[in-house]
Formats: sequence, C-alpha cells, structure tokens
Amino acid sequence: MNLHEYQGKEMLNSFGVQIQRGIVAQTPEEAVAAAKKLTEDTGTGWHVIKAQVHAGGRGKGGGVKLAKNLEEVKEIAGQIIGMHLVTPQTSAEGKLVNQVLVTEDVYYPGESETSEYYMSVLMNRATGRNMIMYSTEGGMDIEAVAENTPHLIFNEEIDPALGLLPFQARKIAFNLGLSGKAFKEMTKFVSSLYTAYVKSDSSLFEINPVLKTSDDRVIAVDAKVTIDENALFRHKDYAELRDLREENPVEVEAKAVGLSYVDLDGNVGCMVNGAGLAMATMDLIKQAGGEPANFLDVGGTADAERVEIAFNLILKDPNVKAILVNIFGGIVRCDRVAQGIIEAYKSIGNIEIPIIVRLEGTNADIAKKLIDDSGLDVHSVVEFQEAADKVQEVLA
Ligand code: GDP
Ligand code: MN
Repeated sequence: MNLHEYQGKEMLNSFGVQIQRGIVAQTPEEAVAAAKKLTEDTGTGWHVIKAQVHAGGRGKGGGVKLAKNLEEVKEIAGQIIGMHLVTPQTSAEGKLVNQVLVTEDVYYPGESETSEYYMSVLMNRATGRNMIMYSTEGGMDIEAVAENTPHLIFNEEIDPALGLLPFQARKIAFNLGLSGKAFKEMTKFVSSLYTAYVKSDSSLFEINPVLKTSDDRVIAVDAKVTIDENALFRHKDYAELRDLREENPVEVEAKAVGLSYVDLDGNVGCMVNGAGLAMATMDLIKQAGGEPANFLDVGGTADAERVEIAFNLILKDPNVKAILVNIFGGIVRCDRVAQGIIEAYKSIGNIEIPIIVRLEGTNADIAKKLIDDSGLDVHSVVEFQEAADKVQEVLA
C-alpha cells in the first residue's frame, strides 16, 4: 500500500525522523491558512506547494512550486489542485491532483551550503536482508545515477538479528562526506529511519532528497513509503491511510469481493483458478500472439456467482477482444464451474466477444458437454494447445 508524501512524512516523524514540516490542503483557501500556520510555527517566509499524488517526478511535471508570499500560495495552489499532473511515472493523461501539501521552505541560505542526498530502505532479495541504499547524488533521478555513475551509490546491509549498528550509521554519514553537527544529525536520521522501516512493516522507503540544511540539520524533504499489505493487520491505524482515488477502480472492486485482479494492457481477458495456472495461462496467450488484459485468480470456489462477478470485472476493460477461462477442477467440480459459466453468460446477457473455456479435472467431460450443448458463443477446448490455437483464431 502506497502512502502520499504527507502521510509518509507524518508516519516517519512519529518515529523521530526529522522532516520538512507541512500541512495538507484541499483548496487554495486552506493552503493560505496552512501557510500562515507554518509561518507561526516555523518562522518560514517562503512555502513550497506540492501535489499529493502516488507518483514521483512531480517537480519535473510542474507539481512542486515555490511560493514567496501568500498571494503566490493561493495562486499556485489554485493551479495545482484539480490539474492532471503528468510526470515520467504517470500515464500520458496524468493523475488528478485532489490535494496539495504546503510546506516550509528548507532551502534557506545560511552558514553552509545545502546538500541533497538520496536514501532508501528496502529488502535485498538476493541476501534476504534489509539494506540502506544511499548516494551523494540526491534530488535527481536515481535511475540515471545508477546508469551513469554507479560507484556513487552505496549499500549498507543490515543483519536482522543485530539490527542497524551504530558504526553502520556513522559509516553512512562518513560516506556522504559529512562532519561536525551534520554528521551527528545524519547518524540520528539514519537510525530513526531504519527503526521506522522495521516497526511500520514497510517494504520500501525512498527519501529523495534527504536535505542537509544551511544550518546543518538533516531532514526528509520527500517521502515515498510503501507498507507491506500482508502486515496491515498489525497496524489497524494505517488502514485509513489508503487513498482509493489513487488506485485502479476495477482492482478496488475485485479486492472488495475477495478476488485477486491485476489490470494489464492486453486484449485477452483471463479467468483462472490459482496463481501458477494464471501465470501459465498468460504465457499461453502471449504464445498465441495475444496479450493478457489482466491477471485474475478466482480462487478455489469458482461458483456461478463468483464467475459472474469475474466476467463483469473483465468486461469493464474495453480493450478485451476475447476471454480465456482456464480452470482446473480439483476441489471444485468442472461441471459446477461450467454451469456457473452458462448461468453467468445468460445473466449478463450482452457478451459480444468470444469466450474460450478449458476445464480440466473432475467431471471435465460432463462440463464440456454442458458447454457444447448450451448453444452459446462459448468454445470449449480440452488441451492447452487447443486453447492457444483458439485464441489465435478468434483474434485473427
Ligand atoms: P518529486 O519531484 O516528486 O520527487 O518531489 P520532491 O518532494 O522531491 O520535490 C522536488 C524538488 O523540489 C526537490 O528536489 C527540491 O529541489 C525542490 N524543493 C522541495 N522542497 C523545497 C523547499 O523547501 N525549497 C525549495 N527552494 N525547493 C524545494
Ligand atoms: Mn523526490
């Protein structure tokens, strides 16, 4: 589950991570009130208005702007709220901005230069350990840094039994070239960031940039936080952080009825039971020259009701030119699934695209007969290869 920047920063701060202060606003008027409050609390004269959408690269798309007075706060908030923000990480249509974060300006001039760093915390799947990835090249596209100057990216692996050790935090501050007060601030930043990562059961933190201010404070200016959904039961208070407006509506609907559905870009819808069979079916579709339009695992109980819900979900995608049902009847009998498909087909009524059904397992022969006798535009096949050939034929 992804959080908005403002939610991520609040969560980090609750674990002692220092952040750029901000207040979220839904309207230009609220943005002005937020800016006034921040001036009272922090003394900041300038403010930054930041679009809150689940996508990075907002600065490049015009979703992060500096306001030097309250008129500019109002004007910029008015421009950003309601805009479709296009960034390198969104589709060409962009993402609708519902709210902005009004923050204090932290790039003020002072004794020393400001510096931007990159820092993320994630699981290294090769070693099965958490690691902190960091770089002196913050504030920019980290993928480009990895491509052009990979020696400027450092990794620090953490032993799960020992946790982050003090010398590791010092090593990070040293490699970032810090000394004096900034060095101490960075070690505190790193250790509270790692504590937050573990205690919140997150799967990714990406702080780009981590800023060293001109008075040598170290703070998170941006925050991309992904919480492991499988651990949400341990954090009931995080459930309300989900912003359904940022998620694919069909996926949200599927989740509500307990189906695993992932929307994809292709033209062949698939309805399958079991994740492994779903992967194999997607391969089959590609081999036949099609592209899967979705991943859909209907699970063990493929009864008429679930099959109907699943068909309806797939049919919401206008790119779908055919549907391939590939169900193995182990616990659930194939004839019951076939009955479910026939009932669902009749009850939906206006299915105008061909459906290819492969039912294998208990009572597969009865199932095939039921479908063949139904008189519907449903093609029943037995072999995997037949299914592939049929997909090819109906797409042609
Ligand atoms: P992203 O573009 O989605 O990664 O959004 P960020 O939160 O990283 O902000 C983009 C850029 O805005 C940062 O890299 C900074 O250069 C700039 N920025 C953020 N906060 C401030 C601030 O307080 N003052 C100034 N002058 N610039 C800021
Ligand atoms: Mn950023």
